[in-house]
Amino acid sequence: MSAETLHISEIFHSIQGESSFAGWPCAFIRLARCGHGCIGCDTAYAERDGVTLEIEEVIQKAIAFQAPFIEVTGGEPLLQPAVHGLMRQLCNLDKKVLLETGGFLSVGEVDQRVHKIIDLKAPSSGVCDQNNPENIELALAAEPPHRHTFEFKIVIASKEDYKWATSLLHQYQLSSSFTVMMGVAFGKLEPAELAEWMLRDRLQARMQLQLHKYIWDPGLRGV
Ligand code: SF4
Repeated sequence: MSAETLHISEIFHSIQGESSFAGWPCAFIRLARCGHGCIGCDTAYAERDGVTLEIEEVIQKAIAFQAPFIEVTGGEPLLQPAVHGLMRQLCNLDKKVLLETGGFLSVGEVDQRVHKIIDLKAPSSGVCDQNNPENIELALAAEPPHRHTFEFKIVIASKEDYKWATSLLHQYQLSSSFTVMMGVAFGKLEPAELAEWMLRDRLQARMQLQLHKYIWDPGLRGV
């Protein structure tokens, strides 16, 4: 693959379902392939198919939606080095760019203008031991306003996940400097249960639901 092309799973227009941008219309660029193997991955189809497109074509398709935000997601977008050129060019066009990453690769090379939504995988994902520690270090070392372009997301499927997440939050004091979004694994944990734990523990984090799974059929792709 040349530096000017990307392997793309889908480009679509939807309502941002997660993160501190939930609720905003958003254009999504989903890059194909990941291979991280999280248990319960809800975009497994991004492993199987995809098309190779020139970066310019990807940009034109995404900006045609005229959405206030463009999210680069996957799969794992950081597996393809050309993604950096894509994000840089979108930023140069004054687009508000979000990156959602599975958190096992470093975000160190990502353009500082990009808002980074970094997964911290909890034990039930099966890949908790592969969270890249550099991402928390980079976030903690960043000075404002760059510091505000880091955001963390933790999906909770069990009480064990919740205990792991609270201990991580306390260890790094993450909530005092960053938005930390805590959500339930759809169909695995009742939102009311997580809400109860968070309120009981006076947890300084934001609860989120995967909005798109409530608006549309949870199994639908391209939303
Ligand atoms: S990092 Fe994301 S895309 Fe990759 S396997 Fe895990 S959930 Fe799926």
